[in-house]
Amino acid sequence: MAKSQQNQDLHPSEMGPPVEFKATTGGNEENQTATIRCRQSPGSVPAKHIMAQALSGDASRIVFDYSAQAVAMQLEVDGMWENLPIIDRQNGDMMLAVFKTLAHLDPADRQSKQTGEFTAKLEQIEKICSIESQGTPTGERVLIKFRVKKDPLKTLSDLGCRDSTLNSFKKWIGVYQQEGPTITKGLLIVSAPENGGGLSTLWRCALSAADRFMRDFVAFEPDGSNETSVENISINHYGAESGLEAIPTIEKAILKEPDGFAVPEISDPAILEALCDQILTMDRMAVVSVNANSAAEALAKVCALGVSSQKIAEVFSCSLNMRLSRRLCSNCKQPFLPHPQLLQQLGLPQTHVQELYQQYQPNPAETGEIPPCPQCNGRGFKGRIGLFELLEVNDHIKQAIISQPNPATFHQIAEQSGMVSMRQDGVVQLAQGTTSMQELQRALA
Ligand SMILES: [Zn+2]
Repeated sequence: MAKSQQNQDLHPSEMGPPVEFKATTGGNEENQTATIRCRQSPGSVPAKHIMAQALSGDASRIVFDYSAQAVAMQLEVDGMWENLPIIDRQNGDMMLAVFKTLAHLDPADRQSKQTGEFTAKLEQIEKICSIESQGTPTGERVLIKFRVKKDPLKTLSDLGCRDSTLNSFKKWIGVYQQEGPTITKGLLIVSAPENGGGLSTLWRCALSAADRFMRDFVAFEPDGSNETSVENISINHYGAESGLEAIPTIEKAILKEPDGFAVPEISDPAILEALCDQILTMDRMAVVSVNANSAAEALAKVCALGVSSQKIAEVFSCSLNMRLSRRLCSNCKQPFLPHPQLLQQLGLPQTHVQELYQQYQPNPAETGEIPPCPQCNGRGFKGRIGLFELLEVNDHIKQAIISQPNPATFHQIAEQSGMVSMRQDGVVQLAQGTTSMQELQRALA
């Protein structure tokens, strides 16, 4: 009683978790007014509660579904959607008015598509929140996407790429290494599955593996895209907004004689053709990306773009693919003794691996409420790692590009030539206790 009495005396800015919102996309005064108005609104309290969950869990998205009576909410953490408790429409409306005000949108408009941005901060964690709202027949749908100002991931190793794969990739991307030749030309393909498979992050990390201080790379992207925001790589934009066409933009950049070209999410055969010609006639390098579920599928997709297979066979050097798998929480993961038969199935020598790890399982004998692990909030996982495979060119692959350019053939040849498949890479992560059997099966399904 005393507590609720006390709560009634509190100002909304003093209630709820210590989340700070800030309007950022308007003028100074406009931002300040919006920020203060939201701090004073009672809607800031449910807004702070939901944001605290999203920020502490490092969520990538929240979806709000407004129906006549209630608001259903889902949070995406490490690629998995979680349902949050449903809240009533009145609280949901006040909360949405806060988000819309922060993003300088119209809170009264529940129909039109509106998009904007603001920032939310919880202790040391600060995220940019892009909001998109759109009326639906039953109410409104709102999506908030989170991103950090600067991506802390910098290298393929940070993503979980093992040294052996990394060193092979570095060889193809022209990094000087003590052993073996330094290759300075060829077509490199970087890929990951679509819909949150991490291709943007992989793209930046893969390019950062190149020696960008010794060798000059230029990127080509449609207007409005900034995929190649990598230090020392300049982006050349093309499209309706800039009034520039892709091919003349590339031709102009070629005059400056760069060492390499970077084209994310390549889909235009004319661009691929221009890159292939530069590789063949000027000994340049080109790195491109596509969405694909395996290194072999990525190569097949590039082959299918329509450039002559003879040309692709001549320029192709390697295809790097990544699949994301959730990382076991290091605070609460549990060791277990695997059955010798399981180790045998996984191809792990029993002499090397004594124990594997699994997600935290509460002991059924323990009664009473056990507080969830503070590191992962009881999810059992925190963050993600990449599983990698690198398909490298050889004479058999070249032949297949010309005669049988399909994923199954490429994969079979690559495995026969010693490629460490994604499954094998996952088994190594399993043996190192980074991920669990179930998670690996889910990630590779
Ligand atoms: Zn944990």
